[in-house]
Amino acid sequence: MMAAGRAGERGFRVLLLEKNDKLGIKLLITGHGRCNITNKIDSPREMAEKFGKNGKFLISAFSRFGVRDLIGFFESRGVKTKVEKNNRVITESDMARDVLNALIDYMEKNRVEVKLNAEVRTIDRSGGRIEKIVLATGEEVLADRFIICTGGKSYPATGSTGDGFEWAKALGHTVIRPEPSLTPVILKDAFVKELEGLSLRDIRIAAYKDGKKFDSGTGDALFTAKGMSGPLIINMSKGVRKELPGDIMLKIDLVPELDFTEVDARLRKDFQEGPNRQIKNCLDMLLPQKLVPVITKIAGIDPEKKANSVTKEERKRLVSLIKEFGVHVTGLYGFEKAVITAGGIELSEVDSKTMRSKLVENLYFAGEVLNLDGPTGGYNLQVCWSTGYCAGEAGSA
Ligand SMILES: Cc1cc2nc3c(=O)[nH]c(=O)nc-3n(C[C@H](O)[C@H](O)[C@H](O)COP(=O)(O)OP(=O)(O)OC[C@H]3O[C@@H](n4cnc5c(N)ncnc54)[C@H](O)[C@@H]3O)c2cc1C
Repeated sequence: MMAAGRAGERGFRVLLLEKNDKLGIKLLITGHGRCNITNKIDSPREMAEKFGKNGKFLISAFSRFGVRDLIGFFESRGVKTKVEKNNRVITESDMARDVLNALIDYMEKNRVEVKLNAEVRTIDRSGGRIEKIVLATGEEVLADRFIICTGGKSYPATGSTGDGFEWAKALGHTVIRPEPSLTPVILKDAFVKELEGLSLRDIRIAAYKDGKKFDSGTGDALFTAKGMSGPLIINMSKGVRKELPGDIMLKIDLVPELDFTEVDARLRKDFQEGPNRQIKNCLDMLLPQKLVPVITKIAGIDPEKKANSVTKEERKRLVSLIKEFGVHVTGLYGFEKAVITAGGIELSEVDSKTMRSKLVENLYFAGEVLNLDGPTGGYNLQVCWSTGYCAGEAGSA
């Protein structure tokens, strides 16, 4: 939509083909329906670094149409934004719908023709150029230039089924194997069911394989029916995927602001303040209520026990569970729950200024179809806005 709108603005006659019966189905579910449009990092280079070694491909696109341009683009179309934790830029209205409407408006103002229920089946090449594309209905579409923006393979129910990868391969492009990335984790611990729905804010998680630490991070997470999700887990899933299969344990520090001694002192104080209270009613001063029965059970302590009769040994067990609450990873979700697809069109075969294919002269790529995947936090949509804008304005009208 950004590519089509910008191409229209540049004076091109544009046709957008979408196989769904609506535009932006995935966009509407981004940021839990609030759309985290970008991350407030002003420097294109710093933003690009979030994408690992492939990030340098993005410096030019981020410089051409970066975070500030994007925020200006939406604000000038009436979509106010706010900055939340970790510099996430979100719609002020908490509605992704406003972002979609602004894009539709942008396209309408620039006379983009939108054809829904239009599934592209094949792209026919003749010599070094694309000659035409053929829709599922058999209808043929001729054009001077073509931009492939079919996304990845994540959440295929939204329409992102990886079709662009197949066309690109048939056109001679290298496609780095698409893999699900940024997914929730599946845990084997039976107590997970009891914790479903519990959100943990500002916790620290360290990830271990066979007892050896390989990653750690701080942020928010939550328990689901079968495991854990939330930004911290989703971002750490990338490292976990590399280590699987294997014996992977996550140690959750529930109160990272206090060290072991401080947690011990805090428990001692809480237990003394309410000597006649039961331990379960003292622990919930430090921990979320839902965790108390689980932690006391693992510690082998009766939650109804009087706080003043807790032994030093028992308190020690509680401290280590609070600082290193262990959960065991059995696996990760696949494309059906992946926020992003890693892999995609090999970047060395695409011009980083114009997004033009180096192999097919009238072909361009934009968005998640490219071999780029960043962490959660608005980075992945910024790739779409920036590369879409550049692809849309490439060429002369
Ligand atoms: C649950 C979820 C939450 C997310 N939240 C955020 C967030 O808050 N911030 C962020 O930065 N990123 C977020 N992302 C990632 C972000 O949504 C994607 O990176 C982005 O949508 C990719 O945009 P795209 O235009 O490249 O592809 P897509 O959004 O996947 O769009 C591709 C379009 O192409 C169409 N299409 C595919 N094949 C064909 C065909 N053969 N013919 C015609 N049309 C076709 C599809 O129907 C689809 O509409 C989230 C992803 C998910 C799954």
